[in-house]
Amino acid sequence: MTVQVIADETLGIAARGATRDGPSWGAGAPAISFAHVSKTFRGGTEAVADATFEVAAGEFVSIVGPSGCGKSTLLRLASGLTEVTSGRVALGEENVGFVFQEATLLPWRTVRRNLELLPELHGIGRPERRERARSALALMGLTGFEKHRPRQLSGGMRMRVSLARSLTLRPRIFLFDEPFAALDEITRHRLNDELLRIFLAEQFAGLFITHSVLEATYLSSRVLVMSARPGRIVAEVAVPIGYPRRPEQRFDPLLIEAAAEVSARLREVST
Ligand code: ADP
Repeated sequence: MTVQVIADETLGIAARGATRDGPSWGAGAPAISFAHVSKTFRGGTEAVADATFEVAAGEFVSIVGPSGCGKSTLLRLASGLTEVTSGRVALGEENVGFVFQEATLLPWRTVRRNLELLPELHGIGRPERRERARSALALMGLTGFEKHRPRQLSGGMRMRVSLARSLTLRPRIFLFDEPFAALDEITRHRLNDELLRIFLAEQFAGLFITHSVLEATYLSSRVLVMSARPGRIVAEVAVPIGYPRRPEQRFDPLLIEAAAEVSARLREVST
């Protein structure tokens, strides 16, 4: 049972809360839909207020906002790990991956065995588990590291393994809670590019929380800006550049312009 808790809370399987709608949405329905969602914790902290937004299937959207404004809470509401106080969250797909800031690998398991854990918990047989681990490793450029243990890997490599682990369940919706915040800039850029590569290959819908305006704009087709707590979605900035994106496009004037707009909106809500 402990393992199941680890799996649900830490390893990236979204629990299905009673307050969310199931996967019965028809074709063309949004992957993620928030309608007037608010969350007040016991004790009275109002973390999210009246959040309304959608993420289309196959779309990548980021959320930025001041520290403590309710970004992580919003993501947990999306996953069903936290229940809404009012409003409605609906997901168009049941298969949801959740990636946290910490890689949260099991230190006693090899990379391959870490990758096999989620399929194992889902009762997927050994040959299929192996195959899923192998293809996720290949997708994340980790082939050759199967027998390493997490402590033998750099922070960037551990985060790659964490992403690969989530990929083994082939999620159609991915929720990212500042997964690259602890990494140095070069590693972060590299992982941004790898994330975009797997986003295009797997075509999941992504909702990505970050403190970095440039990261948000580089990854996303839209950036949502949250106000200080209680977090409200106060602005939406479209990034007028298609995919695939090349690393040098970080400095594309259109992207910089969008980032400047996000920054300006953030300054307004942070004062
Ligand atoms: P962010 O991710 O934007 O930094 P969080 O969503 O983590 O913000 O937190 C928003 C607010 O909600 C904070 O004031 C935080 O202390 C509070 N909060 C988060 N989780 C809980 C909880 N389980 N119980 C009570 N308060 C919480």
